[in-house]
Amino acid sequence: MNNHPKTLLRNYHIEPKKSLGQNFLCDENVLWRIVDAADIAPDDHVLEIGPGLGALTKLLAQTAVSVTAVELDARLLPILATELAPYDNVTVIHGDILAQNPDALFTTPYKVVANVPYYITGAILRHLLSAQNKPTMMVLTVQKEVAERITAVPPKMSLLAVSTQFYGRATTITTLKAGAFWPRPDVDSAVICLDLSQSPAVDPAFEKQFFRLAKAGFSQKRKQLQKNLRQLGHNKTEINTLLAQANIDGTRRAETLTLDEWKRLTEEVAKWRSGKVATSRAT
Ligand code: SAM
Repeated sequence: MNNHPKTLLRNYHIEPKKSLGQNFLCDENVLWRIVDAADIAPDDHVLEIGPGLGALTKLLAQTAVSVTAVELDARLLPILATELAPYDNVTVIHGDILAQNPDALFTTPYKVVANVPYYITGAILRHLLSAQNKPTMMVLTVQKEVAERITAVPPKMSLLAVSTQFYGRATTITTLKAGAFWPRPDVDSAVICLDLSQSPAVDPAFEKQFFRLAKAGFSQKRKQLQKNLRQLGHNKTEINTLLAQANIDGTRRAETLTLDEWKRLTEEVAKWRSGKVATSRAT
């Protein structure tokens, strides 16, 4: 690592902003670990969220065919321009990642590699995963507690785990101590990988239905599934029938369900709905 973030920022008379989640990685081994986890091929296109001072960007530029890096903080642009000058395959976009349309940024497949600003981790995931052109892989440094929720398995599933794993396989690559960053964050961190290269566990045609069910199922964590699902407008008998058809015990809690069980339940509800539509058309 050429320049420690502290030195670099001091040279430019810039104070890091906590409100923008500015904790810069300052451990070269960690940076390479992140790049390695993304398994970047020479023809891969990469999106980086929040390049900061360009430490990760440089390594990405050395491995990928192109890097598109979106940075919100205008104060960092002159630093990025200098640090990234040797790399002509990097495009820095000044803006908010949540205001960028990934479908407009990439017409090709792409990977996301980022040490994300923690205050918008959930929003970033929703933004990229709901895009038409989704990344094929995401390697993200996130708060450790969030990483645990994303990679959770039954009986400790969370709505975040279900809604992320709907799109792909989530694994933890490594955990990071606060000392890997400058300034040190108040929380521990972890690097996670979301592999989105396989088709989703559930037919994308049922995506809306799946999320309605999961949201209702997790609406009151301590309540049984059969009670939480009532808010979807089905009566008690209908819910019990749907759960029975999906082979799920309605007294269970949402956090114990596997992705496959959510899938079965989604399919049963979809079948029930299309049957109902057919019946109402016939009468
Ligand atoms: N990639 C650098 C590194 O690893 O050292 C910096 C990571 S730092 C945790 C997060 C970066 O995201 C900061 O540079 C911050 O200014 C930027 N950022 C914060 N909010 C953003 C947003 N909404 N869109 C794009 N970048 C943002």
